[in-house]
Parts: sequence; structure tokens; C-alpha cells
Amino acid sequence: MTSKTNLLDFDREAMAAFFVEHGEKRFRADQITQWLHQNGVNDFDQMTNISKALRAWLNEYCEIVLPEIVRDEVSDDGTRKWLFRFPDGNAIETVFIPESDRGTLCVSSQAGCILDCTFCATAQQGFNRNLTTAEIVGQVWLANKLLGGFGQRHNVVSNIVMMGMGEPLYNYRNVIPALRVFMDDFGYGLSSRRVTLSTAGVVPHIDKLAGDLDVSLAISLHAPNDELRNRLVPLNQRFPIRELLDACRSYIGERATRKITIEYVMLDGVNDQVKHARQLIQVLRGLRAKVNLIPFNSFQGIPYQCSSPDQIRRFSETLQAAGLVATIRKTRGQDIDAACGQLAGKVSNRLMRGSTDIQVISDRQVVVQ
Ligand code: SAH
Repeated sequence: MTSKTNLLDFDREAMAAFFVEHGEKRFRADQITQWLHQNGVNDFDQMTNISKALRAWLNEYCEIVLPEIVRDEVSDDGTRKWLFRFPDGNAIETVFIPESDRGTLCVSSQAGCILDCTFCATAQQGFNRNLTTAEIVGQVWLANKLLGGFGQRHNVVSNIVMMGMGEPLYNYRNVIPALRVFMDDFGYGLSSRRVTLSTAGVVPHIDKLAGDLDVSLAISLHAPNDELRNRLVPLNQRFPIRELLDACRSYIGERATRKITIEYVMLDGVNDQVKHARQLIQVLRGLRAKVNLIPFNSFQGIPYQCSSPDQIRRFSETLQAAGLVATIRKTRGQDIDAACGQLAGKVSNRLMRGSTDIQVISDRQVVVQ
């Protein structure tokens, strides 16, 4: 071995294979996963049920590398946002949203995003790279540590949503092991109802996911017809609405209790008219879905406005009258730019679209000129 192996890069199965490969017992992976993700212990010397000899070996060949905490902000409403940085200079954001009955952690999967959705702040900084499994799991580990969540009887982080920066299905290889750690009984032990992957609709990977893992799925639909969705979510030009919703139907498949969450950002005068609600009812026909209306969160340099509360209510009532379940997402953490679509870390070596007309004015704000 030339450099140390970061054990946060493994789900338990892969860690077991790693230990077996090095002449150790498989169950060491169970023990270390528990120490790490249930007890919050990242120092091998504190893992007291592991022999001294093995601890020495771990110290020599393995490591637990966590992101660096650059910023830690708390909103008036209790929402907490962290800016985490990696050794190559890339930074991402992670958000914790406390509610009376749950605590949701919104986790990033990529530094920047490649999708270029026209209403999203992350899109504006371009894409740099996929996060490693360790960098994804590290966000959850650190959030738990900083929230005092380890060793509690009730999970402080009770829900995880892959709704931060990036498109998780374009980082499939690294996201899947991370999701396994979140759902592993030796890890965070969250049920598949409490772990949600949100995607703009990478159809082939939704099909693959169905065979690999059982997580809740959220789809960033945002428009009820291809013409409009092509403009808002350019990925639609590759995977149009009909193909996307077919993939959702197969994903639900046999799962008896499953529903897909359809995310729909409310953009004033763009996609929020009653006629759009009616089209949405049509396209969702036959799909077990609930619709989550997201009030648009504005940020500097963006031409859209949020629909009025009245318009959102009208839209929601139209859906409900047709028998759809529709909820309106409460906007949280707006005062610290922690709301949906406002996340922007810092992408080093930026691969920016039209890089000349985008200027970085701080490490989490960019303006389009
Ligand atoms: N790429 C994945 C994960 C990002 S999730 C996806 O598209 O699902 C972030 C969610 O917030 C998505 O539904 C996204 O469309 C939405 N969003 C992006 N910008 C927003 C904004 N400014 N206001 C409200 N929601 C926004």
C-alpha cells in the first residue's frame, strides 16, 4: 500500500472485503462501522473491542478523513448550514432542518452541478467533480457530531435527503455505497422511507437504482410539458417527461406502499397557472405520486420570481380537487441562504459555462453579468 485507505469510502460489505483481502476477519467491518457511525468514534485507539495489534495496523494503513469545517451558520428558524471544504479546495454545503417530529439533513453529491437548471444557484457555478463516498458520508458524520447526535436514543438526523448540490444519479458509483451506510443497521440505521434521493431525471440510472437499492425517490419535475421543461431543466432534452415518468412507474413496481415525490418549483407566471396544474394532473395520471410544491427561492442575478401565496394555493387546490396529494414546502433557512436551490459551495478549477460572464464575488455567491 502506498497511501492510507480512507475507511469512510466503504460501505460495510466493501470494508469487509478490504479486511479479508488483508488477512483480517470480516466482522471487523461490523465493529468499525458501529464505532464510526453509531458511536461517532473516528480514532482507532478508542475502538476498545479491537486488538492492539489490529489498531496498530489500522493506524499505519488506514485513516478516517473528514471534510474541513469552513463555516457553520444557524438561521433564525433553527436551520443550520455548513460549508465543508476538501483538500483540493472544493467546497460544498450541507443543511440541517429541524422540525418537531424529525431532523432532516440535506446532503450534497457533487462539487457544483452539471445540469444547468435555469432557476438554481448551484447551476451557476458550473461543475467541478463528483464527491467521493467518503466526502458524502463525511457530511453526515460531521453533522451528527456537531449536532451531538451520536449515542442518542433518538436519531437527531432522522432523515437524509440527497437534495444538496449536484445530481446524485450522475455520481452513481459513489452515492450508492453512501446510501447503504445511511440505511445499514450497523451504520445510521435509517429506513428506506427516511432516505430520499432527488433527481432531475437520469432515466437509465433510475432503472438501475430500482435493481440495486430501495430508497425513496423524488423527481424534480417543475413543468408539466416538454416544451417548458426543456427550458427549465435542460436534461429533459435527453430524457423527456414521458420516459421519466415511465421509469418512475417501474421504480415503484411491486413496492406496495411506495409513492414518488414530484417536486415542482413555483415560478411566477412561468409554470404556475391553473392550466399547468391541469396538464400536471394529466401527466401524473396512473402514477402513485405526491406533489411537493416548492416556493421559488430567489438569489442574486436571477430573472425569476416566486409565485404569490394565492397562486400557490390555487395550484395546490386544483391538484387536490383531482385527487392528488399536494403539499407546499415550507421555506427554511432563507436568512442564511440555506433554502432549496440556494446552495453554492466553492468550485476550484471552475469549469464554468461561459466563464467570462460569471464572476465569483465571495466563496458562496456568484453573479451572472
Ligand atoms: N439534482 C437533483 C438534486 C438537487 S435537489 C435534483 O434536481 O433533484 C434540489 C431541489 O431544489 C431540486 O428539486 C431543485 O430543482 C430545487 N431547486 C433548485 N433551485 C431552486 C430554487 N431557487 N428555489 C427552490 N427550489 C429550487
